[in-house]
Amino acid sequence: MKTLAAVSYESGKPMLIEELELSEPKSDDVLVKMTAAGLCHSDYHALVGNRPVGMRPMVLGHEGAGVVVKVGDGVDDIRPGDHVVLMFLPSCGKCQWCLAGDTHACVLGPTIAKGPQPDGGYRMHTKNGLDVGQFCLLGAFSQYTIVHKQSVCVIDKKIPLEVACLVGCGVVGGWGAAVNRAGITPGSSVLVIGAGGIGTNIIQGAVSVNASMIIAADRFDQKLAWSRSFGATHTINVDKENLVERVMEITDNMGVNYAFEAISRPETIAMAFDATAKLGKVVVVGLTPSHFDSIPISPLNLVLTQKTLMGSIYGTSNARIEIPKLLYMYKRGQIKLDELITNTYSLNEINQGYDDLLAGKNIRGVVRF
Ligand SMILES: [Zn+2]
Ligand SMILES: [Zn+2]
Repeated sequence: MKTLAAVSYESGKPMLIEELELSEPKSDDVLVKMTAAGLCHSDYHALVGNRPVGMRPMVLGHEGAGVVVKVGDGVDDIRPGDHVVLMFLPSCGKCQWCLAGDTHACVLGPTIAKGPQPDGGYRMHTKNGLDVGQFCLLGAFSQYTIVHKQSVCVIDKKIPLEVACLVGCGVVGGWGAAVNRAGITPGSSVLVIGAGGIGTNIIQGAVSVNASMIIAADRFDQKLAWSRSFGATHTINVDKENLVERVMEITDNMGVNYAFEAISRPETIAMAFDATAKLGKVVVVGLTPSHFDSIPISPLNLVLTQKTLMGSIYGTSNARIEIPKLLYMYKRGQIKLDELITNTYSLNEINQGYDDLLAGKNIRGVVRF
C-alpha cells in the first residue's frame, strides 16, 4: 500500500514529503494509521546530523499515536481498531534490565536509530525500491507505519489520540525524570533548564510530588510564561540574567535540591550542577549532540558538595505501565496534556513546525494526519 511520509534524504536538508510503498505486516508487525505525531527535538538532532542515524533515507518521528489497521502473525493481544501510542524504546522482555522491570535500559536501545526493524528488514521503500529506515523503529511522520508489537502500547479509546501521542516521548520523559529518576521529595526546590516539551513535563512531575519551589529557565519569555501556567513558581530568562546567580538569590544562597537540564549542552549541564545545593541531584535529560564529549564540572566540587549527577532516558520508566498511568492522570485532571499543544501542522508543514520549535514558538507542535 502507499503512504505519504516526511522523508529525510540528506543530513541538514529539510524533509521531503513523498509517497512511499509500505509492505504487508510480517510476523509480530502492527500496521498503524497515524492520527498525530509530536515534533520532538530529538528528531531535529537526527535531521541535521547532530546525532548520527544509521542510514538515509529515513522517516523520522518517534512520538505518535494512531489506530491499528492490521496485525501480522504472532500478534494476539493487539487488534485492528485498537488505539495505540507508539513507544520509541521497545523492550525485548528477555535482557537483565527488562527482567528487572527497567525496560528503559533494554539492550535494544542502541539499535533504534539504525533504520531497519528488529528482524533486520525494511517495511518502507521509495518508489525506486530504496530501503527506507524508520527512526526509533517507528517512522511516525507517515500516514501509515508498520512497527513491531513491542513498540506499541494499547490505550483507552476515550483519550483523544492527538494528546495521547505526547505521552509517547515528552510527557513520560519529563514527568518520569522528575518522579522516577530524581525522586523529588515534597517541599523541595527544583530548577528546570529548558522549558520545552521535556522541561514542561519535568515541571508537571515536580508539581505532582508537591515540590515547593519550581524555577524554570529558558531563553524565550513566552515559554517562561507557559511554564508558570504549568506550575513554575519562578522564572529566569537566561539571555537577560545570570542563571546561577539568580538561582542563588532565589534560594538564599543554598541552591536547589534538584536541577534538571533539558537543553542538551555541556555548559548548561555545568550551570545545573553549580545551581544545585549540597547533596542535591543533577539530572541530565536532553540528548546532547554527539560532538559534545565532556562536561566542564570540577571533580573537587563534586566530592566536596556530594552532589549526584545522573542521566535519565524515557523517564527511567517502564513505558508500558507509565503511558496508561499518565493518561489516567490526564483523565482525572492531574496532569495537563491539551495545554502542551501550542500549534498543529499538516504533514506538508512539518519543516515549518521545526522552524517554529527552534524559534521558541512551541511547547509541542503536533502533526495531524
Ligand atoms: Zn522525543
Ligand atoms: Zn530488554
